[in-house]
Amino acid sequence: MPVITKKPHVLVVPFPQTGHMVPHLDLTHQILLRGATVTVLVTPQTSPYLDTLRSLHSPETLKTLTLPFPSHPLIPSGVETLQQLPLQALPYMFEALSRLHDPLVDFISRQPPSDLPDVILGSSFLSPWINKVADAFSIKSICFLPINAHSIYTMWGQEDRSFFDELETCTTESYGVVINTFYELEPEFVESVKTRYMTHHRVWTVGPLLPVKAGANRGEQSSIPPEKVSAWLDSCPEDNSVVYIGFGSQIRLTAEQTAALAAALEKSGVRFIWTVRDAAKKVNSVEDDNEDVIPVGFEERVKEKGLVIRGWSPQTMILEHRAVGSYLTHMGWGSVLEGMVGCVLLLAWPMQADHFYNTTLLVDKLRAGIRVGENKDSVPDPDELAKVLAESVKEDLPERVRLMKLREKGVEAIKKGGSSYNDLDDLIAEMKI
Ligand code: UDP
Repeated sequence: MPVITKKPHVLVVPFPQTGHMVPHLDLTHQILLRGATVTVLVTPQTSPYLDTLRSLHSPETLKTLTLPFPSHPLIPSGVETLQQLPLQALPYMFEALSRLHDPLVDFISRQPPSDLPDVILGSSFLSPWINKVADAFSIKSICFLPINAHSIYTMWGQEDRSFFDELETCTTESYGVVINTFYELEPEFVESVKTRYMTHHRVWTVGPLLPVKAGANRGEQSSIPPEKVSAWLDSCPEDNSVVYIGFGSQIRLTAEQTAALAAALEKSGVRFIWTVRDAAKKVNSVEDDNEDVIPVGFEERVKEKGLVIRGWSPQTMILEHRAVGSYLTHMGWGSVLEGMVGCVLLLAWPMQADHFYNTTLLVDKLRAGIRVGENKDSVPDPDELAKVLAESVKEDLPERVRLMKLREKGVEAIKKGGSSYNDLDDLIAEMKI
């Protein structure tokens, strides 16, 4: 007799910051493709993040639960994502979001038994209250972490982690964890996370999680028509000749750093695309409000060679274009994986949080990238940086060759029968039990 297996109903609760939400929704897409029904909890401002998924899945299988963003005295009204705030506002976000506990319990209580979720796949950052919601309904709580095992291993081992201690405890107490990495990249750290921090082996490595749809907006809407960017790239005669510069959703360079980078680009003579974050979006700053100031006359002088994008770029489309050869990056993990998948050499300028551990893994341990910056406060020497930028578009650099070998392993991992593919299958199977 055939075994009739019920597909799970998964309640997805992402953390509202692009670097977290984007891979969490990429994972959601994979779960939907495997036949699960999904409800995603968003607030009004983060609902558009689901647009691409909505265009690919029916409203019967992908449902949205929109709850009002809980007000907080230190978060301006209308702000519902961390990238609109300085990183120091993270504890306020945690406090505000924890007040979604009661409305979520209320929502689940009103569901008919047939619509009850089997599992909550929540952000690790929300685990202190998500675990409680799951316990209240005797369902599983599985945590998603958008980072790699090396970062988890390093961060969880640190002393004095203040409010992160609670997150880590709750994450390890959940039913299992899902990580956006692949086993072959860092087998020893995946094993170490299991043996040192978990009392079980339910650590699923499912990366590199690929974009839901090629060319679609990732997080925010591109501030330049993507066709304009691809036309510019198409007009570049040589493959791997363009440097892409982008520092993710959270980082804004100071005026001094911007000037040094502009000088380096000009001296290097390389072709480039530079995404400059829109300083006006930074609300309620508790830091000096340094803005990205492109030096006067720079764009005019480099117009034959460079394209400056102010705001949000179609990053994955750029990284995957044949003309792009290297990527000056802040080393956010999502961006690192996108660079690897896009076959570009990584030039690492880590800024904050896990960027440093990602650089240790990729540059120091795996020697698959080149370090060009130290931290959020460092100002690169324009002459030195110009040399690295010019060199970075050469084909035969050993770091590029090593990164391409890792890429091959990553691509294998997500193919049918690969380690990440199998872990996704296991994850779905565990959700149903
Ligand atoms: N991103 C983008 N355009 C931009 C800046 C970022 O599409 O102008 C996307 C990028 O492709 C990646 C995500 O936003 O998917 C940023 O993730 P990352 O892990 O680098 O972390 P963050 O620094 O934003 O936390």
